[in-house]
Amino acid sequence: MKADIAVLGAGIIGAHTAVQLAERGLKVVLVDPGPPGGEQAASFGNAAWLSSHSVTPPTSPGIWKQVPKWLRDPLGPLSLRPAYLPKALPWLLQYLSAGATEQKLRGIAAELRTLLIDAPKLHAEIATRAGVPELIDADSGLMHIYPDRASYEADGLGWRIRRELGIVCDEIEGPELARCQPDLARTYTFAVNVPEAGQCLDPGAYCAALVSFAQSMGARRIAAHATGFRSENGRLRAVETSQGEIACDAAVIACGARSAALARKAGDRVPLESERGYHVTVEGGANMPGPTTSVMVSDRKVVITRLAQGIRCAGQVEIAGPDAAPDWRRAEIMRTHLAAIFPGLDTSDARVWLGLRPSLPDGKPVIAAARNIKGVVHCFGHGHVGLVSSARSGRLAAQLVTGETPEIDLAPFSSDRFR
Ligand SMILES: Cc1cc2nc3c(=O)[nH]c(=O)nc-3n(C[C@H](O)[C@H](O)[C@H](O)COP(=O)(O)OP(=O)(O)OC[C@H]3O[C@@H](n4cnc5c(N)ncnc54)[C@H](O)[C@@H]3O)c2cc1C
Repeated sequence: MKADIAVLGAGIIGAHTAVQLAERGLKVVLVDPGPPGGEQAASFGNAAWLSSHSVTPPTSPGIWKQVPKWLRDPLGPLSLRPAYLPKALPWLLQYLSAGATEQKLRGIAAELRTLLIDAPKLHAEIATRAGVPELIDADSGLMHIYPDRASYEADGLGWRIRRELGIVCDEIEGPELARCQPDLARTYTFAVNVPEAGQCLDPGAYCAALVSFAQSMGARRIAAHATGFRSENGRLRAVETSQGEIACDAAVIACGARSAALARKAGDRVPLESERGYHVTVEGGANMPGPTTSVMVSDRKVVITRLAQGIRCAGQVEIAGPDAAPDWRRAEIMRTHLAAIFPGLDTSDARVWLGLRPSLPDGKPVIAAARNIKGVVHCFGHGHVGLVSSARSGRLAAQLVTGETPEIDLAPFSSDRFR
């Protein structure tokens, strides 16, 4: 088989990349052993946030003091499998260090903002072109919920940084919050609404629709694992897969949490870890109790979103390696939180899911040309912001492949930052 470009991975990053390349008239092959946006992909089961304000990395100054408490708490947001600790330790130390000072946090926030800005609008535009405008609500806003004003103020640094970047954050308190979120437990009395943010209505269906759109423009799909590259004089000639070689001039590595081995074959070592997360989804119609606007609940560290198929509660960071068996007790924790936050919702019948966030320690992806093989482009490691950032990331990957000038400075997303 011969293609201009092989896109490796048909999660949301690969899907956007394939659309961008197909729209430029290039012959694209999408390689993925699973269905586009299928349950194997993080892009299937995320919390659906198009949070253009998610600019700070997951860690912040002093957060390490909370780690022992979280690990001891059976309902806590973080878990670590002891047998995996020696392998994960270097990554964990880099992860904690990334947000260790205000200065570091401000630097990452400014860089991530360039990737995330206008994201809801970008998604709405592309969903419209793909014929699925109903899957994106670019104007929903997103809400962060706190028990009270004091707990919000204790979380002040992230909000200060967002406001410094020009992000509008509206405070809502007491009876006003009860009016906007009538089903929310009354133990929550304070919220911040971010009007510029939006949400997807079904992340798995969105990903699948983008791949169908790319196919309608001539892209082909191959159900295979990409295993490596064949190059001549440092120039890509073919991608090796479990179904044989695909001759091509360029390839984009977009295999999510499983990208590191391919990146290494193209010359770049990156500290990619999977931050495993869980969801429970209670299926049902539009009238079931739940959030009016999707909420991030600060004390329980979960996101609850109303989707086309029902109410989803997603969260947890489990460090156990990508291949460890799911610990469904972590999903049960989601169910417990969901029932406490929206007490009117019957959570007895819920679907559970585990997904792998593809995470680099500083919370930023790698979007860069590979070091050793001309024609190979990295686009992976989007961590907690892979859905929101995917529309621009796909554009950037396409710009790198075709030699166009990237629309933002890509130096902060280089793989060299880990050398
Ligand atoms: C619980 C949870 C909640 C989240 N909430 C949000 C949110 O609200 N907003 C947000 O922006 N982000 C969120 N995220 C993060 C987001 O889901 C991910 O960053 C994003 O989906 C990553 O997309 P991806 O395409 O890189 O990887 P994936 O979606 O994982 O796709 C990778 C694809 O590559 C394929 N693959 C793997 N190996 C190979 C190979 N060798 N060859 C070919 N194909 C291969 C896989 O089969 C898979 O289909 C959340 C994640 C989790 C787990």
